[in-house]
Amino acid sequence: MRCDTCKGEELTVIKVARYSKPLVAAGYVLWILAVLAAIGAGVYMTRSDAAAEDPGARAVQNAVTKLEQINAVTPEMIKDFQDDGLISETSLSKLGSEDRTEVDKVLSDFRTGALTGTASGQPVWVFWGMVFVVCGAVFIVGLAITLRKEKLKCAKCGALIELDEG
Ligand SMILES: [Zn+2]
Repeated sequence: MRCDTCKGEELTVIKVARYSKPLVAAGYVLWILAVLAAIGAGVYMTRSDAAAEDPGARAVQNAVTKLEQINAVTPEMIKDFQDDGLISETSLSKLGSEDRTEVDKVLSDFRTGALTGTASGQPVWVFWGMVFVVCGAVFIVGLAITLRKEKLKCAKCGALIELDEG
């Protein structure tokens, strides 16, 4: 190959950006953010997964969720329940009979282990799967923008010559 401009034969391979500087900068931001987001999501997922794997913790969480849906149940009662799986009789006696029945039902379900059943695992995995797909797509787009391409540079006149890429 020769230089088209000066016909010089000394050509060196250099790497140049494919796009304008602001676009390349945006590309870096994109893929770095995607990597950070994926790492963050991975850490968060591992943690929440560990919590979800503990049947005891899951049962407590399920019971708390149910208790929170009962209006008469105060945050103090929920804290009381989280401490030892029980709500003191003093607190329970303040509840109206309907609320009392509902709370007793949750507490008895909790004691019999009815609340340990697998929590909604499916949607969580679908959610995390989508997070990683999005991160992956953003990463690829960002990387494609920042990847440089090889060109030949004439040592004599400095002209750049396009390399044919497959
Ligand atoms: Zn040249």
